[in-house]
Parts: sequence; C-alpha cells; structure tokens
Amino acid sequence: MEIKGKVIATTNYRSLPLIAPETFAGQQKANTNVSVNGVTNALDDHGTEHLWYRCALADGNFWIRSDLISFSIPSILDQLPFVTAAEIPNPKKIAFTVVEPSQDTLLKQVGVALAAGETLDAEEIKLIIAALKRYGTRLRKEWTAANLREAISILDKLFSYGVVMHGSDGGGWSLSEMQLVQRSIDLVASGTARHFQRLFNVADNMDTVGFRLMFAPLRIVRVPIDDVNPNPVIDPKTGKSPKWWARNSRGFELYLGNLAFTGMSFKFRPEDLIVHETSHCLNFRYRPQGKFLYDFYTLKGSYTIPAAETFDGKSVKTNFLDFDDGYSTRPRSSDHPAEVVTDAFTNDFVNGYQDSVKGEARRSQVRGLMKLAIENRLKEYGAVRARVRGESDKTLEGRLAILLDFLDETEFADLNLFSDKIMA
Ligand SMILES: [Zn+2]
Repeated sequence: MEIKGKVIATTNYRSLPLIAPETFAGQQKANTNVSVNGVTNALDDHGTEHLWYRCALADGNFWIRSDLISFSIPSILDQLPFVTAAEIPNPKKIAFTVVEPSQDTLLKQVGVALAAGETLDAEEIKLIIAALKRYGTRLRKEWTAANLREAISILDKLFSYGVVMHGSDGGGWSLSEMQLVQRSIDLVASGTARHFQRLFNVADNMDTVGFRLMFAPLRIVRVPIDDVNPNPVIDPKTGKSPKWWARNSRGFELYLGNLAFTGMSFKFRPEDLIVHETSHCLNFRYRPQGKFLYDFYTLKGSYTIPAAETFDGKSVKTNFLDFDDGYSTRPRSSDHPAEVVTDAFTNDFVNGYQDSVKGEARRSQVRGLMKLAIENRLKEYGAVRARVRGESDKTLEGRLAILLDFLDETEFADLNLFSDKIMA
C-alpha cells in the first residue's frame, strides 16, 4: 500500500537537518504531494526528539519532521517500516543524531501510549508491538502497563480459538470491550464443547478445538460508528433506517459498533448480542442436506421432545405459539427464520432457556440442530482432510479424531485470509 502525504509548510533545509546522502536539494514547497516510505526518530538540532518520515520524490528521498507533513488517512504509523540508525545509509554523515527510540515512540508505532508514570521493559514492548502488528489489532490510545498486558493476553487467547480482533481506522478496543468479547466467545466455546461431549464423548480441551472446528476463522472488528448496517433501508412505517448495533458478515466476520457496547436496553446483555452475532456463523456456514439450519427448526407449531431425551423415557409434546416461546433473551434484528434460529443458539450458549416445557423443547431442538451442524462439518470438511492424509475413515468419530489431530499439530495460521492485500 502506498502512503501519500502532503508537506504542510515550505521547508528550508538549512534549518531542517537532513540525512545524507538521502538529501533533497533545494526547498520543499508547501502542498507538495509526496509518497512516504519509512519512519524513524531522531533528535533535531535543538536536541528534541521527533518522529521523522522518509519521503520519496522523483529526485530522491528526503526526511521531514512529522509535524511538517499531513496525511489523508489516520493511523499510518503501524503501516510504515521503522528505519533504524543501522539501516540509514552513511549514518555518520547525518546532520542529526538518530537515537534509540523511546518507549513512547515505539508504542506510538502501534497507536498506543502509556499513561503518565507507567513503564514496561524493552522485551515486553517488543512482544506487545509484535502481537498488535501480527493480529492487526487497534487499541484505544492510553493504557496502564497492567491493562496493556491483559489486552495482549486476551488477543493471544482468542487467537488460540481462531479469532482475531481488528479495529478499523479511528476505532480501537478498550480493555472492557475486549473482556466482553472474550466472555462471549468463552460462552459459545463451552456451549459448543457440551454438544461435542454429548455426541462423541470427547472431553479434553474441547472448548478451544470445538470452537475452532465450528467457528474459526473468525474476525471481530470494532467499528467506531453507531450503525453498522452496510445497506441501510428506510422503514416505510417509521421513516427511519433501524440502526444495526452489530452484524455478522458471511459467517466469517463480526462488526461491532459503539451501540453494541453502550446501547443495551434491559432486554438483553451485551454478551447476549455478541453470542448472537457469533451464532450466526452456524446458519451461514453449515448446509446439512443442502438446506439452511433454520429449515429444520420449528418456529411455531407442535414439537415433541423425543423419549430418549427425557428423564422418564416418555416423549413430551408441546406447541410453540410464538417465536420467542422458551427463550429468555432475544437480541435478533428481525423475525427472519435465520434470526430466530440464531436466538435459539444464543439461548443455548448463554443458558437462557426458560425453566419450562417450552424451554426444554427449544433446548431439545437446538441439540438436534447442533448435531446436524457438527455432522455437516465433519462430513464435508473432515472428509477432505482425511483424503489429503490418505486416511479412509468414513465414520464421524474417525473424522473427528483426524481433525482433532490436525488441530493439535497446527497453530491457527489463517491470518492472511484477513489481510487487505488479499481482500482488496
Ligand atoms: Zn442477528
């Protein structure tokens, strides 16, 4: 990606120290457009530390102090290579002193600042910068050292689930928002593990791998706007476009806007909304018998809990009169069957079914749906894996074992899927 900048004020090179031989003869006029290809920090001739950008013009490279250039896009620092003294040609000829970057300067590369009086050691800063660059995460600006450590540990933990947390320009995660996402993913993971345990009697470490099998890769983006509906449509009744607090895009990306964190009504908790958005992945991704999962779901009408699932071995009949019968939380955006069935998964993961026959009947329905989704996952994808490895086990248990083996030996490595280069 090319980063374009504009020189703000006419520069005079006698007062602006330049790095030789990367000098540029003559003056640089205000409003000149330049292409920026590197950043460093150095002392100016008054001994004050500044960031400097390396710019390219037809005549060659020159360096300019950061306050004398403007950019059309924010947060460019983490996209530019940081040029160290050793990498600058003939550093002895430079007219200013390139210094070891301070903590502040280093963290600025990834858009983060430590609060007054807070410090980290050099090794930790290196790991933090590496993690933020690796995951493409943007954080809120100011942090204490302890909170920053916790934020990185959340990123690492979520990565082990196959989840990366991104932030778009101008947006950034706060620690409490990250904790909320982690709680929500944990709920989905332990809920999914329960279904794997029931179906296959596997127990060890199923939270992480169960989630990876069914939901990874998943990118979660913090968007700093109130409405994340990409195609707002005016409702003829209200004359307004309903605000989307969050959305799931094609089963692989969650977009969480400001209201996902601040706009909660008494009707549901923020966890419920994030669990709902995550649950959308199931209906998006899995097509048992070529159908949507909601095609197997009784929205309204009669349903029988099978005898095998009841305490006394007798089936129990009930009649759903309403979409919401048996649910305690309903963060859905409409009454489309994909939304209603997603609320069913949500109630399952947050343990939100009502303590009633209808609640138990919904739970029984979701057991059936999760069985279909998991079998679909193992049949469609497990089969490919088995073929690649030259293994011919056609039972679901065998395929699950092969997939678990595979997950055991591979680190989740699908980050490139989300790189702008590939998705542009
Ligand atoms: Zn929804």
